[in-house]
Amino acid sequence: MSALTAEKTGVPDPDTNGETAGLRERAFGNATGLSCRECGHEVELGPHYACPECFGPLEVAYDFPTVTREEIEAGPRNIWRYKALLPVPDDIEQSPNMEPGFTRLLRAGNLGRELGLSNLWVKDDSTNPTNSFKDRVVACALSAATEFKAKVFACPSTGNLANAVAAAGARAGIKTVVFIPSNLEKPKQVNSAVYTEQLVAVDGNYDDVNKLASEIAGEEDGWAFVNVNVRPFYAEGSKTLGYEIAEQLGWRLPDQVVIPVASGSQLTKVHKAFGELVRLGLVEDKPVKIFGAQATGCSPVSVAFKDGVDAIRPVKPDTIAKSLAIGNPADGIYVLDVCRTTGGAVEDITDDEVRQGILLLARTEGIFTETAGGTTVGVLKKLVETGQLDPDAETVVINTGMGLKTLDAVADHVGPAATIAPSYAAFVATGIA
Ligand SMILES: *Cc1c(COP(=O)(O)O)cnc(C)c1O
Ligand SMILES: [Zn+2]
Repeated sequence: MSALTAEKTGVPDPDTNGETAGLRERAFGNATGLSCRECGHEVELGPHYACPECFGPLEVAYDFPTVTREEIEAGPRNIWRYKALLPVPDDIEQSPNMEPGFTRLLRAGNLGRELGLSNLWVKDDSTNPTNSFKDRVVACALSAATEFKAKVFACPSTGNLANAVAAAGARAGIKTVVFIPSNLEKPKQVNSAVYTEQLVAVDGNYDDVNKLASEIAGEEDGWAFVNVNVRPFYAEGSKTLGYEIAEQLGWRLPDQVVIPVASGSQLTKVHKAFGELVRLGLVEDKPVKIFGAQATGCSPVSVAFKDGVDAIRPVKPDTIAKSLAIGNPADGIYVLDVCRTTGGAVEDITDDEVRQGILLLARTEGIFTETAGGTTVGVLKKLVETGQLDPDAETVVINTGMGLKTLDAVADHVGPAATIAPSYAAFVATGIA
């Protein structure tokens, strides 16, 4: 089932009640086990990701102590300020890591006015160390991989994950192998290759790459695939986006959040984070509507939402939003559940609207996002226009990536207004003054 098996790492089989030999005391902080999202079956903390009873996805369970706002605020200006709420050891800051997170929450008055939203914020995750939100999840996966004594840190990726894994592995001094679809944007390929010599381009789409990764994980010893066999630990990293939004709003929850959907993990974990903050008494309870954003060329979750069905029909992706191009999203059904139960929605937009979304955010707020962010901003616009978002409610839109990685998406649509001789007369002739 997994490259990191009980015997090979000293972690006992989940079905036995033995000691967790080989694992350090509190190696996973306040985490107590892994519980199945489908049937609730609990297994011990280990490199497991599928329920032994029903094959449902496993999720980290905790026994949280009292956590105060003051303790969190006294922590470092990165995701480790929330380490008490993550499956990481108490001394996590001591190991070399990318120190991601605590990115800016910016008031977006101009974009809000443009769209008719009176109270809009952008959570700008493009300023993470490798310029996407993936640095958050990779930091948590790396911590788990280290505790499981993995020899290789690996991933199948739509681009940003490969960048984050390659960089974090380099800094931690662990061998990395990253797999990407061969048609990926050049900047994302280079952004991995500078950190690792083991970048493998696979002729196929992400879902093919993902299948290959699962096969390798089953065959090779000591490989930690961040989003496959250590996925429960990886996924928890996305909760920090939710914690930060609440803390940066002054320990309050927003009314509405718009989040891009690839596998759907991030969206479900931001929702989980809000619930944890309420249960811990760190924020007041209130309804938060969660909205998902997809590109029409890869919109299996949006289609299922609109059809009112519970099952996701996998698709073959065809969109410029490559970082969101997962045709068979692992957490898609949970996205449907979160968006439906909170009163949100899942929407999709065309590639043209994705481009317009990139330019809209750039020209109103000075933030250059990649195609994933163009998708999210474009969906935000569509949700307002179709009356699905309340224009007067406090709204947060998450920008998960950086425009320099997907230059080609807009390169042919913007450029010099004029190319002129170096003379004042030539400039005047342009009419720009
Ligand atoms: C991976 C990614 C996402 C979506 O992540 P999931 O958790 O798989 O839904 C969103 N935006 C960017 C830029 C990404 O790289
Ligand atoms: Zn189960």
